[in-house]
Amino acid sequence: MENKRIALVTGANKGIGLEIARQLAQAGVDVIIGARDASRAATAIANLATQGLAAQSLSIDLNDHASIASAVDIIASQYGRLDILVNNAGIVDALDGPPSTSAPEAARRIMDTNFVGTLAVTQAMLPLLRKAPAARIVNLSSSLGSLTVNSDPTSPYYDARLIGYNASKAAVNMLTVQLAQELRDTDIVVNSVSPGYVKTDLTGHNGFMTAEEGARLPVQYALLSRDDAVSGKFVEASGITPW
Ligand code: NAP
Repeated sequence: MENKRIALVTGANKGIGLEIARQLAQAGVDVIIGARDASRAATAIANLATQGLAAQSLSIDLNDHASIASAVDIIASQYGRLDILVNNAGIVDALDGPPSTSAPEAARRIMDTNFVGTLAVTQAMLPLLRKAPAARIVNLSSSLGSLTVNSDPTSPYYDARLIGYNASKAAVNMLTVQLAQELRDTDIVVNSVSPGYVKTDLTGHNGFMTAEEGARLPVQYALLSRDDAVSGKFVEASGITPW
């Protein structure tokens, strides 16, 4: 019998991450809910259990290298590999804003979590991803990370000037492109996925989509078959997103 795939979803205690975890579990994947707070993780596990879905959790804070190292040790000892990494955890900051007024410390906090934290988790998990037969890495990006969208006056996102957040997602896209290039001779693929404008805590529950809808494309890319495997792409529900 083929082993079940193992997935780690960061920031999976709520929002899009919890929905990604739910949909992966529904697809028969062994899901690990990454959360920085144990009680919030327990609530997420209980939430999934009400739908007959099992998952486990582990403590992982993108800003805490010891927690990342410990997560690697736990996954290594329990599974010896990682098939799917969904880099979902991310933040906005109330002090972020247009370049002329955004608080630099807010931009630093956002960069630390959304980019440096994502880079740190990805690097740490790579040895386990390399042990899987065909690992998939999904980086949660945003149309707001597109330089093309940011410079297009006809785009609905043209006025969404959050220099820290938008730059952090552009940096995540750079991680996708460079890592895909580095891994081009392996069976590991890595893509940036924009979930759409989703009603979660991060958006103050504004948006056009539910978390369930926002999770669909990230899950599709987490489950890419060998035949459909693409790497180094930036996608949204309507197709390829310009960089
Ligand atoms: P959310 O509901 O606020 O959830 C964010 C998750 O990230 C939470 O579980 C949060 O944990 C976790 N997190 C934050 N900082 C962390 C850290 N240092 N270490 C570990 N976990 C951390 O947001 P969401 O809307 O679901 O967003 C998920 C991802 O999609 C983000 O990367 C976001 O940028 C991206 N995205 C969202 C939208 C949208 O419209 N919602 C659009 C484009 C992209 P706590 O509960 O402990 O805070």
